Amino acid sequence: MKIVLATNNSHKIKEYRSLFANMPIEVLSLSDVAIKSDIEETGTSYEENAAIKAENIAQLTKFLVIADDSGLEISALGGSPGLNSARFAAQHKSQSEANRAILKSLEKSDNRQARFVCVIALANYHGRLNLFRGECLGRILMRPEGDSGFGYDPIFFSDEANACFAAIGEDEKNRYSHRAKAVEQLLAYLADEKFI
Ligand code: IMP
Repeated sequence: MKIVLATNNSHKIKEYRSLFANMPIEVLSLSDVAIKSDIEETGTSYEENAAIKAENIAQLTKFLVIADDSGLEISALGGSPGLNSARFAAQHKSQSEANRAILKSLEKSDNRQARFVCVIALANYHGRLNLFRGECLGRILMRPEGDSGFGYDPIFFSDEANACFAAIGEDEKNRYSHRAKAVEQLLAYLADEKFI
C-alpha cells in the first residue's frame, strides 16, 4: 500500500522509511506527489497541527496520508519550545545555535528533565481521521553530543536508550524515539483494520 507522508523534512522522511522498512508500505513524500509547499501549522496542539496537515494533503491527493507534529518539551522552561519547536529553531541562524540557546537558558538550572512528543495523524479522502501519540522521556545534556540524527537530538539524552539521540545510530534511535512509539500504534491500527 502507498501512504503519503505530509512533510518536506528529509530527516523525517528518512526515519519513516526505515520505520516502515519491513512493512508492505511505500512512503511517498510530498515531492513524489508533486506538492511543493508545506501546510501551515495553525493549530494549538500537536493533534490539531498533525490533523490539519494530514487532512489537507488527503483532500489534495486522495491518498491515505500521515502527518506528524512533534516537539521538544523542557520542564524548566515550562514545556517550551514544545509546539513552537520548529519556529524556535527557525528563529536562530542554525539548529546548532538554537540548541546552544537552550543550553544557555538552562545554565543555572538543576532541572534538566525533558521529553520529545510526536503525534501522527492518519487521514483519508473521506474525512476519516485517527491520531497516535508517542512520547520519549529524557533530559537536556550540559553540552551537545554526537553527529547523527537531526534537530534537537544532539542535546537530548534518552532515558530508555541511555544515550544521546545524536550519539546512537538511526536503528537504535528508531527503537526508542517518540516517533517510533507513535508508529508502533499506527501499525497496530493499520493491521487491525486490515490495511496491512
Ligand atoms: P515539526 O514536527 O515539523 O513541527 O517539527 C518540530 C521541531 O522539533 C523541528 O524543529 C524538529 O527538528 C524537532 N524535532 C522533531 N522530531 C525530532 C527528533 O526526532 N529529533 C530532534 N528534533 C526533532
